[in-house]
Amino acid sequence: MRDFAYARAGTAEEAAGALADPRTSVIAGGTELLNWFRLGIAAPDRVVDIGGLDELRRIDRDGDELRIGALATLNEIGEHPLVTQAAGALASACLQAASAQIRNRATIGGNVLQRTRCPYFRAEEPLPWPCNKRDPGSGCASLAGRHERQAIFGWTRDCVAVQPSDPAVALAMLDAQADVLGPAGPRTIPMREFHLTQREAAEAGQPMRETRLEPGELITGYRLPASSDGQAYVKVRERASYEYAIVSAAAAVRLEEARAAGAREQRIAAARVALGSVAQRPWRLAAAEAELPGLPLTREALIPVIERAMADAVPLPQNGFKVLMARNAAVRALLAAGGAR
Ligand SMILES: Cc1cc2nc3c(=O)[nH]c(=O)nc-3n(C[C@H](O)[C@H](O)[C@H](O)COP(=O)(O)OP(=O)(O)OC[C@H]3O[C@@H](n4cnc5c(N)ncnc54)[C@H](O)[C@@H]3O)c2cc1C
Repeated sequence: MRDFAYARAGTAEEAAGALADPRTSVIAGGTELLNWFRLGIAAPDRVVDIGGLDELRRIDRDGDELRIGALATLNEIGEHPLVTQAAGALASACLQAASAQIRNRATIGGNVLQRTRCPYFRAEEPLPWPCNKRDPGSGCASLAGRHERQAIFGWTRDCVAVQPSDPAVALAMLDAQADVLGPAGPRTIPMREFHLTQREAAEAGQPMRETRLEPGELITGYRLPASSDGQAYVKVRERASYEYAIVSAAAAVRLEEARAAGAREQRIAAARVALGSVAQRPWRLAAAEAELPGLPLTREALIPVIERAMADAVPLPQNGFKVLMARNAAVRALLAAGGAR
């Protein structure tokens, strides 16, 4: 363990100011950062604790907008009536993450900044294999080794990892915005663009960059439109709790009465759907969202639409099963969001 200096931030501005020094990290719940210390993934000289900034912990509603502070914990969000009523997919994603103990400390600000669970990346120092995220230019051991849990969209030969956050998938599906405070002042980042695939990062000339958060920026909270649409979050995993997703899907559906062949029936008026753990960012199925209005909410109607929207998936040799699994998760999430079985 390396020594580091510890300080408590008195204000969000003070924390953002401290972050301007690249040798400083902020710590919120510490459930991710402390693991990075142990593994040698991070070794800051100074740690600034933002845990006392109560103004970043609030969950409230301003008209049609739900506001969630970056320090709200996953359990606080998952159990808050404003969130369960107006952003049910987010509440469900928070409560399906990690374990009850971890959810009591894990914040929503730190959650979207968690890093991949790729076992080659998460190894203890000194790293016994190549990993471009840990040692740029060394290669990707997962590509030649085990990669059944890795990406089916947006990967490059430099890295095939996925972003494992559950709440990030719901935030992207719900068109949330992250409020951030940095050296250039406050700005917002749409959550559907917050994370970068490896391909997007390479095109931007920074192949290992994972988010659009700039160095020195602090997430202060999220804003999302309060929605009366039915919502669901489906997480497929190897056991029912305390496990990361193999794939997941968040969906919101609004139905309307329509007349078909002389009878009245329910049709989709609007739908949103995003996949998780299939890429280094939540994967919104925009093509499906454009096709779904007017269709009945049935498995038979949904499957071809989701398959067309996922036609550009490029699975690796060991993870072709994720394409079918993600398709089924999306269909289940849409059916559940619309109240169908
Ligand atoms: C055993 C285990 C199981 C887990 N399972 C799941 C799971 O199933 N699903 C899931 O989604 N997650 C899971 N997680 C991840 C967990 O939810 C995250 O570790 C947690 O949300 C991170 O929040 P934190 O406050 O502890 O972040 P910290 O560890 O304090 O910080 C993490 C990173 O974010 C930065 N940071 C924190 N807050 C801010 C901010 N406001 N602005 C800018 N930077 C910030 C820190 O500097 C650091 O770089 C699991 C974690 C563990 C340990």
